[in-house]
Amino acid sequence: MTDCLFCRIAAHQIPASIVYEDEQILAFNDINPQAPTHVLVIPKKHIATLNDVQPEDAPLAGELLRRGAAIAEERGIAGVGYRAVFNTNRDAGQTVFHIHLHILGGRRLNWPPG
Ligand code: AMP
Ligand code: ZN
Repeated sequence: MTDCLFCRIAAHQIPASIVYEDEQILAFNDINPQAPTHVLVIPKKHIATLNDVQPEDAPLAGELLRRGAAIAEERGIAGVGYRAVFNTNRDAGQTVFHIHLHILGGRRLNWPPG
């Protein structure tokens, strides 16, 4: 998926402010942060939306969630609270069609979201 922005970031073809990397997962700071902590956690494997996660991807999806929680812990926001979000398709405003877990925190977050 050479035309996918996040595949290209995962392949180090486009720079990003990387905060975590292993064989399967990359995490980097959002280029347009909406909160003091705004990190995107992605699988290196191209999966377009949450709707496209297959049964065999379940361990990977679990690791994405665990990594998001670990980053929140590192940032000192695990206890005070943070938000973990997968925007999915048009009505949620998904703009990059490679799944990414938003980890947002460091300020009070409104609910319901706008
Ligand atoms: P979404 O609306 O859920 O698809 O979110 C896409 C996110 O990717 C937005 O929060 C963007 O600010 C972020 N984004 C887009 N391009 C980049 C980039 N090159 N590096 C880091 N974050 C990006
Ligand atoms: Zn991709």
